[in-house]
Amino acid sequence: MSRKPRLILSKQALVKNYQRLSSFSGKAECAASIKANAYGVGIDFAAPVLWEAGCRTFFVAYLDEAIALRALVPDAVIYVFHGLTDQEVETALASHIRPVINTLGDALNPAIAALKPAIHVDTGMRRLGIPQYQHDQLIDAVSQCQPSLLMSHLALADEPERPDSEQQRAQFEMIRSSLGMLCPPSSLANTAGILLGAPYHYDLVRPGIGLYGGSPNPCDPKGFEAVVTWHAQVIELQQVRAGDTIGYGGSYVAPRQLSVATIGLGYADGYLRALSGRGEVLVEGHRCPIVGRVSMDLITVDVSAVKDIKEGTWVEMMGPAVSLDAVAQKANTIGYECLTRLGARLERVIV
Ligand SMILES: *Cc1c(COP(=O)(O)O)cnc(C)c1O
Repeated sequence: MSRKPRLILSKQALVKNYQRLSSFSGKAECAASIKANAYGVGIDFAAPVLWEAGCRTFFVAYLDEAIALRALVPDAVIYVFHGLTDQEVETALASHIRPVINTLGDALNPAIAALKPAIHVDTGMRRLGIPQYQHDQLIDAVSQCQPSLLMSHLALADEPERPDSEQQRAQFEMIRSSLGMLCPPSSLANTAGILLGAPYHYDLVRPGIGLYGGSPNPCDPKGFEAVVTWHAQVIELQQVRAGDTIGYGGSYVAPRQLSVATIGLGYADGYLRALSGRGEVLVEGHRCPIVGRVSMDLITVDVSAVKDIKEGTWVEMMGPAVSLDAVAQKANTIGYECLTRLGARLERVIV
């Protein structure tokens, strides 16, 4: 067995998170956002498990992601958030992959209707989708491209105390009623949107982060199960004296005699360098702080509190005890970034 850091991927946790999101969503179909290699967790792992759990519709960002996904879930409905280039249309048709139409120009392209696209209307994100100042042309656009889905995306769904989501929903409602009989099935909610309640669910929801065990708001964890458990091995143990420095830059000075474990993982594996002097890991049931800087392939941890620690011991970097959201918060970021940075070098073990 290799001493490389490893990801233990739990099918059961992924299924439970899917079922939970699906049950929160009432009658709405629960799709899955599976872009960026399923948020770094791996589509090879996630797609077949989600299909097995009853998921029938998937969203990715690019056509090549959709093609890879098609091989894993041959009968799924697959949408490409970023749409397609003209050169990609033929491949998409052959693989039954549906673009999301984000611009009026694309909606009016005569080749598009055959692809059963979704149409994305911007209701306040101001990022992707037909902008609000062009919504007087939506009836034309919808008549032309005959979308299978009308979608929009919430910018502040993780801040329910602010009025923005309600304003976006009102805008979405206005669009739906202006389309009348032309209005296709509709979709507004990501994970955080699902948690806002029934008025946000419409016909289809498209969660991502909750499926993989993260919360949309790291300050307010929502109790999704850890899909990823990240282990790394103690490669060496050293005793350091008071006043000794540890690691690059000598940024950490030992305040007293310490037992320090050097663990085989670093920022090249996606363990963020921002966790230098801030992260915590679980060693034989004890929470131990990172001392000194995270380097490319190694970190150093104060394990003075742990009796009987040995070289070769496996340590939890992230998982049921050291939650994704806690790691994200310590790194001053969000769970989405921690997951999507998970390195290509990590061993992956599916359980
Ligand atoms: C990524 C994405 C989602 C999923 O969002 P989560 O916050 O991860 O649930 C839904 N819709 C769109 C348009 C997205 O880009």
